[in-house]
Parts: sequence; structure tokens; C-alpha cells
Amino acid sequence: MKKIGVLALQGAFNEHIEIIKSLGHEGIEIRKPEQLNNLDGIILPGGESTAMGKLLDDFQIKETLVNKINNGLPVWGTCAGMILLAKNIGEKEEAHLKVMDINVKRNAYGSQLDSFVIEENVPEISENPIPLVFIRAPYIEKVGNGVEILKEIDGKIVAAKQNNMLVTSFHPELTDDSAVHRYFVNNFFN
Ligand code: GLN
Repeated sequence: MKKIGVLALQGAFNEHIEIIKSLGHEGIEIRKPEQLNNLDGIILPGGESTAMGKLLDDFQIKETLVNKINNGLPVWGTCAGMILLAKNIGEKEEAHLKVMDINVKRNAYGSQLDSFVIEENVPEISENPIPLVFIRAPYIEKVGNGVEILKEIDGKIVAAKQNNMLVTSFHPELTDDSAVHRYFVNNFFN
């Protein structure tokens, strides 16, 4: 059984906790820096990245979280969580944790595609197609050398990994398919 933290300052943290528990692991809501000790991994959920970034400062979690990630703590950012991890989120916006070598465009899908669900194969993650839920989603415009692209849709990168870091534009926690959660635990944890 693994101890998996979910940043619980804002956004869809509960849904991640439920899936973690359904897989037989311990899911812990994280709101304080000292709770980051002794975790096997952490998930940064979807929500609103500007609000979450500000709360990371207010709750004084940011520095400890950056240190832990830089020291190898497995981390998975979904949607807003991906924005938090990116080194670059656009010319005018200050990035948040700045740990992953990706350029992310926020709210990147136009109004007609604001939110949508598709089923796609992501061979690295699952043998079967998985439902991908996009909600005012970001995508990755550019990746650095150490980043492996896991999924592109219409030339837009929507899943990638770099060492101990996994990011997805979409929200597996809002589906009943736990393939991405299982992939995270099986491939990123010691
Ligand atoms: N649009 C949100 C942001 O920029 C992300 C949306 C989400 O997490 N579903 O933070």
C-alpha cells in the first residue's frame, strides 16, 4: 500500500482520493508543508491554477513542495496541476513551481471545444482506449530535451513525463477508468 498525497487547497482533489482508495492505497489530503514528509507520491489536481498557485504561497507549501519534487518525489499534475508544474505558462504570466521543462498554454482550446470528452489510445499508459476529459484545458506547446511525450491530439501535446514528473491536460479522476492512476503508481513509485 502506497501513501499518496493529493494537494487539497482547491479543485478536484476528492475525486483523486476516491480512486486512490479504490486501488487499495492511502490517499491523504495535503494542506501543510509537514504533510509532505513520508509520502510515496503526490497528485496536483485540476481546478484553477492561479488560485491554487496563490494558495500554495499562502499555505507556505511551495518551497517544500519544489524541494521534494526536485529530490525525486513522484508527482502527477492533472490540468491545473500541470500548469503549476510547468516552467513556462506564457509571456505575461509568472509560472508557479517551475520544475518541469514544458511550455504550457492555459485555456488553450477555443470556446467551441471548451470542454469535451474523447476516447483515445495512449499505448504507454494502457492497452485499452481511455476516456479523456478536457475542461478548459491547457496543452503543452513545447517540451525540453528530457521530456517524453506520451500523447498528442491534433498536434497538441496533452500528456508527457520527465523523470519523476507526469502531466496530463485531461482529468482521469472524473472518469471511472483508473488506468492513469495505476500507471502513475506502477511506473513512478519506488
Ligand atoms: N483553466 C484552468 C486553469 O487555467 C484549468 C482547468 C482545469 O483544471 N480543469 O487553471
